Amino acid sequence: MSPHPSPLAPHSHHAIGVMGGTFDPIHFGHLRLAEEMAEAVGLERVLFIPAGQPPHRGVPRTAAAHRLEMVRRAVAGNPRFEVDAREVQSPRPSYTVDTLTELRAELDTEQPLWLLLGADAFLDLTSWHEWRRLFDLAHIAVAARPGARLLQSDAMPSELKNEVSQRQAVGGPSGSVLLRQMTPLGISATAIRDTLARHGSVRYLLPDAVLDYIHEHQLYRYP
Ligand code: ATP
Ligand code: MG
Repeated sequence: MSPHPSPLAPHSHHAIGVMGGTFDPIHFGHLRLAEEMAEAVGLERVLFIPAGQPPHRGVPRTAAAHRLEMVRRAVAGNPRFEVDAREVQSPRPSYTVDTLTELRAELDTEQPLWLLLGADAFLDLTSWHEWRRLFDLAHIAVAARPGARLLQSDAMPSELKNEVSQRQAVGGPSGSVLLRQMTPLGISATAIRDTLARHGSVRYLLPDAVLDYIHEHQLYRYP
């Protein structure tokens, strides 16, 4: 009898999620977004891909190796979550469109790929490098985030709104947009960094394993 096929065999069409971010540090907002979207869309795996040199913002204050290790610790207990270090290992700036192109080349052409985004990131999408191509490479799942008015149609720039309205309920491996509420968690890495800088408590905003790592390496001690 042939061995049971691996769920990740090239011919399986299980959906894969991509959760990008600076993760400086990773927190429960990121993890819940991935967990709730994985459940909603039926994702077999979610790849957490920490950004190396994010093109949209200044160089993160925390070394990529630390941000990567915090993500590793955060996802360690979840068999469906994985870390993908390709962006932090790349010497070039990490554009999402390039990362998705690489992933596409590694996957079966029929395999659905879902880019997972918070609403603030999605509403900024038209500023991303070759943003329209993102829809050719992946489906996009967007989670409402406290403070971002995602589900009001006037919140979206008209170019984005037009693209989305053409993209509803498309089948196949890419091209649709799902806008979805998630459990609202008003957590941000910025607020966590600020609180740590004044030696405040960030317990219960992020996994203990991440907090332990932050303390071991004395991260975020100064504003
Ligand atoms: P910073 O404050 O440094 O910008 P952040 O908390 O926004 O950090 P990012 O790494 O910028 O985290 O975000 C990565 C992704 O996670 C983005 O798509 C963002 O919208 C989403 N995200 C971050 N925090 C939350 C949250 N609390 N709820 C839902 N989505 C979130
Ligand atoms: Mg952010």
